Amino acid sequence: MKIADIYSNGRFGLSFEIFPPKTEAGEAQLLSALETLIVYRRPSFVSCTYGAAGSTREQTLELTVKIREACGVTTASHRTCVGSTVEEIRLWLKGATDLGIENIVALRGDPPKGEPEFKKPEGGFAYANELVTLIRQEFPHFSVAVAGYPETHQEAPSPAVDLANLKRKVDAGADAVITQLFYDNRDFFDFRRRYTEAGITAPLIPGILPVVNLNQIQRITSMCGAKIPISFLKELEAYREDSQGQIDVGVRYAIRQCRELLDAGIPGLHFYLLNKAEATLRILQALDLPR
Ligand SMILES: Cc1cc2nc3c(=O)[nH]c(=O)nc-3n(C[C@H](O)[C@H](O)[C@H](O)COP(=O)(O)OP(=O)(O)OC[C@H]3O[C@@H](n4cnc5c(N)ncnc54)[C@H](O)[C@@H]3O)c2cc1C
Repeated sequence: MKIADIYSNGRFGLSFEIFPPKTEAGEAQLLSALETLIVYRRPSFVSCTYGAAGSTREQTLELTVKIREACGVTTASHRTCVGSTVEEIRLWLKGATDLGIENIVALRGDPPKGEPEFKKPEGGFAYANELVTLIRQEFPHFSVAVAGYPETHQEAPSPAVDLANLKRKVDAGADAVITQLFYDNRDFFDFRRRYTEAGITAPLIPGILPVVNLNQIQRITSMCGAKIPISFLKELEAYREDSQGQIDVGVRYAIRQCRELLDAGIPGLHFYLLNKAEATLRILQALDLPR
């Protein structure tokens, strides 16, 4: 199924994001995590990330197909512009077409490790909107989702400029916007208000990363620029020496966060699984998700 159809006619979209594991054991663990979640609630789609610096070029496609076949679910492949010429991206998109992939999450990508800023690869793209345009012009059979930033992308000079740049991606043909993780729903609601006022009508899907480990989430948020509200941080810190306690606090927080988002009429939820099922399963079990 195409992402464009998943959110149509008021249908609710539940999606999971996973990454290509490095080992066979990691892959077995991932498939088992997905199976656990799917038995409880079948997602509308599962998306598979494209490694930083283009490190999983082929694995992303292989895993997208494997999950579609092994789990019988709709899938999406992420693709970034990092380290690729336009011709290489075109070849990759042809490969994705041949493999029957229907959905692409089109991204610019982060600068490779050690490089302070993103540099347009020679013969490549500088921004994700250019990738969306290529897909729309030459591979119109794909449905496309893009990234949005409730707390504003780190490199953007202002929220208004970042939103205008997001609008470029949607105007270029993106069918849905999936957000970066965030922990303060007020950031999402403010972003959604400005998004609507800017005339963007593509479904806006909140991205949720349940916190399961304080050190890990501090590392992740320091990289992507998302804030952890002080009260939540204090709650987590109270369990610094108790790993199960951190998971419990993180799960309770995500349940409250998702309930408030659901009450506010979001068209879907996108869970960053980090290839694990436990936290997301507990959250889904506590929510009364629309069908
Ligand atoms: C849902 C989601 C999935 C992700 N998946 C992956 C993944 O699989 N692999 C990975 O490596 N990373 C992934 N990322 C991270 C993403 O690659 C980074 O956040 C990256 O820094 C920006 O990518 P983008 O597609 O949003 O870029 P862009 O939309 O190109 O934006 C990047 C910056 O440039 C500005 N900008 C955009 N267009 C223009 C323009 N035309 N002119 C001037 N300025 C412009 C924007 O305001 C922003 O500051 C994901 C992020 C999200 C939210």
